Amino acid sequence: MNDTTATTNITTNRRPVNKTEAEWRSELTPEQYRVLRQAGTERPFTGEYWNHKEDGSYTCAACGAVLFGSDTKFDSHCGWPSFFEAFAPDTVELKSDQSHGMTRVEALCRNCGSHLGHLFDDAPQTPTGQRYCINSASLNFQKNDPT
Ligand code: FE
Repeated sequence: MNDTTATTNITTNRRPVNKTEAEWRSELTPEQYRVLRQAGTERPFTGEYWNHKEDGSYTCAACGAVLFGSDTKFDSHCGWPSFFEAFAPDTVELKSDQSHGMTRVEALCRNCGSHLGHLFDDAPQTPTGQRYCINSASLNFQKNDPT
């Protein structure tokens, strides 16, 4: 792919995974759909992964892309799974979010465009100082192969 193609893809918002909202609605649970496709937020301390500590990879619940490794997960006490770094530099897309009277940085899955959560610069205890505050509903977990 040359640079022109890459730019075109970004400006037309084309992604490797492009599904209609009807398709997403039929594939996801109502809570996953609300969070991933309507930028909803699960209540803190209610999700499956905020206190999950196994070794493995967290993938996008919509498209399966690997988003975060357990080695970057940390205990932020905020009630949502928190990571100090994305799995790879182009895994998570960042976008300015002015909703709810706040200026925040929204974190989206680069592969399918689904909403994951937000990125904050409030984690000085981590190597990056950053906190990807991610909804459990946006994630699935794959345990590391023990071999
Ligand atoms: Fe995705």
